[in-house]
Amino acid sequence: MGGIEQKYIQEAFDTNWIAPLGANVDGFEQELASYVNIKAASATSSGTGAIHLALDLLGVQAGDTVFCSTLTFIASANPILYLGATPVFIDSEEITWNMSPQALEQALKEAKENNTLPKAVIIVNLYGQSARIDELMALCNEYNVPVIEDAAESLGSLYKGKHSGTFGKLGIYSFNGNKIITTSGGGMLVSDDEQLISYSRFLATQARDAAKHYQHSVIGYNYRMSNIVAGIGRGQLEVLDERVAQKRAIFERYESAFANVDGILMMPELEETFSNRWLSTMTLDPEKIKVTPYELIDLLAEANIEARPVWKPLHIQPLFEGCEFYPHSDKKIVSEELFAKGICLPSDTKMTIEEQQYVIDVVLNNI
Ligand SMILES: *Cc1c(COP(=O)(O)O)cnc(C)c1O
Repeated sequence: MGGIEQKYIQEAFDTNWIAPLGANVDGFEQELASYVNIKAASATSSGTGAIHLALDLLGVQAGDTVFCSTLTFIASANPILYLGATPVFIDSEEITWNMSPQALEQALKEAKENNTLPKAVIIVNLYGQSARIDELMALCNEYNVPVIEDAAESLGSLYKGKHSGTFGKLGIYSFNGNKIITTSGGGMLVSDDEQLISYSRFLATQARDAAKHYQHSVIGYNYRMSNIVAGIGRGQLEVLDERVAQKRAIFERYESAFANVDGILMMPELEETFSNRWLSTMTLDPEKIKVTPYELIDLLAEANIEARPVWKPLHIQPLFEGCEFYPHSDKKIVSEELFAKGICLPSDTKMTIEEQQYVIDVVLNNI
């Protein structure tokens, strides 16, 4: 917490406006929309809920297909299943670790031929890194498929000067406890289409028709953010730039410490982009480094340091067994390679320089 959150929560208490919605929710939506420079935003109870709403708004139904990045957290794709639709997973490419335009092109081409074009494409911006937005958007526009940008991990990142999360028809952010700013739990759905966002608010509050009695014509959800939680979000938004600067400094310290180690490659940063460096992640080249990422994670754990593997690709998750998958090329499955070689290092902004140096020393002593 930055310290200012309490002020907004106190306001909610002082006005006795605790219940869902209220001044903090309106304020948080407007302030976030203005921060990322988009026309409209709707605060939700989670990022996952925001993805669910986004898919519903785009008319995804049972029997439809939705394309999704494979190298991501499960929450990017679970809402596809909530709606009874079928995910098709798209591989990563090397520089961004995000969706491969090459694989997407192949998938769209085949879908078009089979008359099974997806209802939406979910593009994820992993660990703060922007996907190759221009190439991916050009393909989706060519095939007329709307994009949902999963920017749960990339709030504050820029692609060619424009905010991550604002490129698709709809974008989502998450304020879960582990994200760059948090409200304890929560999310945001954003779009330049104000009507769509306005309709999302209707769907997120049980889709109650305009009648005196309780009347409902479509399926709704209980997905709105509470006024208390939104108060935390308003305070957190004020420290977002500071958090991004801290995260980048953490990344840069790792980068310079490992610069001379042959076989460690920090996650690259795509040219003309600015990553929030939500997590400092790197890959270990198995031909040059004697420990595997899993062994290193265990060795770090013995030194009381928590590190993690990178996300396990969704196309090899038991839950998605049998789902279609498009690799980067015939010869190469980039996401599986990143999964085998990648490791996420401690990246918390509360970590002191001494603590980070300890992590660096333990890594250097064990590779
Ligand atoms: C955290 C996360 C989500 C889900 O957000 P919640 O607020 O936790 O529901 C979705 N996608 C990605 C890539 C995430 O990291």
